[in-house]
Amino acid sequence: IHVLGNVTDEIANHFSSFPQVENVVRILKPFKLASKEHKAQKTVIKVGDVSIGNGDVVMIAGPCSVESEEQIMEAANMLKKLNVKIMRASAFKPRTSPYDFQGLGIKGLKLLKKAREKTGILVETEVMDVRDVAIAAEYVDVLRVGARNMQNYDLLKELGKINKPVILKRGMSATINEFIMAAEYILFHGNTDVILCERGIRTFETAYRNTLDIGAVAILKNLTHLPVIVDPSHAAGNMELVPPLSKAAVAAGADGLLIEAHPDPKKALSDAAQSLYPEQLAKLMEELRPICEAMGRKLT
Ligand code: PEP
Ligand code: MN
Repeated sequence: IHVLGNVTDEIANHFSSFPQVENVVRILKPFKLASKEHKAQKTVIKVGDVSIGNGDVVMIAGPCSVESEEQIMEAANMLKKLNVKIMRASAFKPRTSPYDFQGLGIKGLKLLKKAREKTGILVETEVMDVRDVAIAAEYVDVLRVGARNMQNYDLLKELGKINKPVILKRGMSATINEFIMAAEYILFHGNTDVILCERGIRTFETAYRNTLDIGAVAILKNLTHLPVIVDPSHAAGNMELVPPLSKAAVAAGADGLLIEAHPDPKKALSDAAQSLYPEQLAKLMEELRPICEAMGRKLT
């Protein structure tokens, strides 16, 4: 700080109109609000009666997409039976092909709310467009930024203005620094409830969909105070690999898992190959329990 004295003074002046960072601009890291220098205690995020980041391992599971009322109700009931507290399901879908199922949009948000009202399960969904953030925040408990939008800065700014937790997925070719800087945008714009999600990155390897970067879990937990979860499904690309990757994630210290599971994966309109059958999810949860316990943690 001494060597960079003038520089940090200049930066401090520049930022004096932003009270949320006034005291942190001297942190010599590109990210400030996300850093442990800014906040030593771990951030614990409340979603209903679930705490993410308190040492427990939180299971978030559900279908890739909201497909119909019948499908989402079946999914919610299947998850309730397994005692899963938060259901994932996307109403807005980022698809590689414009010919593929694009999601139900606002109708999907309404179905998520209905499933929540009927079963009591908390709901989580992706937002892709700045224009959908406010309405999604009305209908669901947790909003998600998908890998393809990690650096959609206008979207990140908008998510900074809401009072719902945000799951921020790592872009498929984003460095750790770029990932944390994306989280920094949401924090900077006023939302402190950001959950980082490692979902696999693009590498030379083609044997699975993406390369799950387990090292990312450890380093993100070292560098930031934010909860870190893992999505093994989009890394795996097939259901067989989801259980081992989930166990590795928990062993590496992940605060939770985001897993695709469908009441009838054969009929799934997106990501069928990687979606777990109800029995597979049940078995995985039973296998995860002793791993969590060995680490002094609880699967919730
Ligand atoms: C998803 O969670 O369904 C999804 C589209 O994932 P990602 O953004 O990680 O590709
Ligand atoms: Mn998916």
